[in-house]
Amino acid sequence: MSLCHPGDPQVSCGSCCGLFNVKLSVDGYKALLTERTNEFQTTVDLSIRHTIAAFRQSREQKESSLSKNDEMTYNCPYLGYIDKNQKKIGCMIHPIFTGDPKSQNFSFYGASICQAYDCKNKESIHSELIQTAILRNVKDSLEYSHLAADHSLFFAIDSWIQLKGFSISEGYLSFHVEIDTMIQSRKRVLHDKNLTSFEINYANFLKLDELESFFLSFLTKEEWDKLQNASASL
Ligand code: SF4
Ligand code: SF4
Repeated sequence: MSLCHPGDPQVSCGSCCGLFNVKLSVDGYKALLTERTNEFQTTVDLSIRHTIAAFRQSREQKESSLSKNDEMTYNCPYLGYIDKNQKKIGCMIHPIFTGDPKSQNFSFYGASICQAYDCKNKESIHSELIQTAILRNVKDSLEYSHLAADHSLFFAIDSWIQLKGFSISEGYLSFHVEIDTMIQSRKRVLHDKNLTSFEINYANFLKLDELESFFLSFLTKEEWDKLQNASASL
């Protein structure tokens, strides 16, 4: 279990494989993932290596007309659905499916990068707290992926907890209602942010006014004031 695959039968994350770097609606992302998965299942024979490469070539050609958020960021077509109910997103050429530890070398990034990359939320010592908070607030893998990649949000939540005078682990427990409000409100703006998890966060949130300005980019003033007046509760 990890932030990428939290052990939930319904959700997983695929942000760093570039899913949201293409500009689509929610239904558009789902359709793209279904199309890739169906094509992979019908054209790739893992024992015939050139079929894996041919899949990439075919998908790159088909997806070349999609609008991208950042032309320099790659959208890997090997990201698809990895369960029979088409709920969980993941790497269709992961060694767990291919039996070959180097199979991700068919991709643009290559096995060493695919297997070594950890986004900031995943490498956080509070990764499990982040995962639990996200799982309480999502209905599918798209919502889960948006939030798992959003390290600015969880850095801001950590800073808010510390400014309240609590340790991070105490704060995630004591302020779970307020944290849920932050996450639910943040979801309203995440679709337009096209997060990959590679974003650089320049804020350090050491002062309340910096935090306030971040939170007011997606919370109403009334919601923010209510959060500021919240007392810890278990
Ligand atoms: S963005 Fe983070 S949580 Fe999501 S798949 Fe990549 S490393 Fe895992
Ligand atoms: S090959 Fe790498 S970038 Fe592509 S889906 Fe798999 S893990 Fe993601």
